[in-house]
Amino acid sequence: MQRKIIHIDEEKCNGCGACAAACHEGAIAMVNNKAKLMRDDYCDGLGDCLPGCPTGAITFEVREAAAYDAGAVAASKQAQQMSANTCGCPGTQAKNIQHEECDCGCHEEKFEPVSRLNQWPVQINWCQ
Ligand code: SF4
Repeated sequence: MQRKIIHIDEEKCNGCGACAAACHEGAIAMVNNKAKLMRDDYCDGLGDCLPGCPTGAITFEVREAAAYDAGAVAASKQAQQMSANTCGCPGTQAKNIQHEECDCGCHEEKFEPVSRLNQWPVQINWCQ
């Protein structure tokens, strides 16, 4: 379909990344220090990226392009969010927990609770 979509002039682009940060749809990425429209269907054609460009490298054009796909953008954002949640922080990493078992009764004598948590994050089954 013919529609309005952004055009990035690589000659003018200084690689500041302001457009990629301004794009709410994640349509623009920095590739080899140049802004690049990654997918036509991620660009809604509203131009949130234009005002932030200090060099005027971004303009609109009307050309043959895939229609804007809000569902694809939402799926991409969700995937990025899930990726961000596994940032390497120990608290976010899935793990199996091994407990050293002893049958000497020392925990009972000291009234120490014994954890039965075997994995993280916790998955709760609701049985009725
Ligand atoms: S805002 Fe302009 S100069 Fe900066 S990366 Fe995007 S296109 Fe390039």
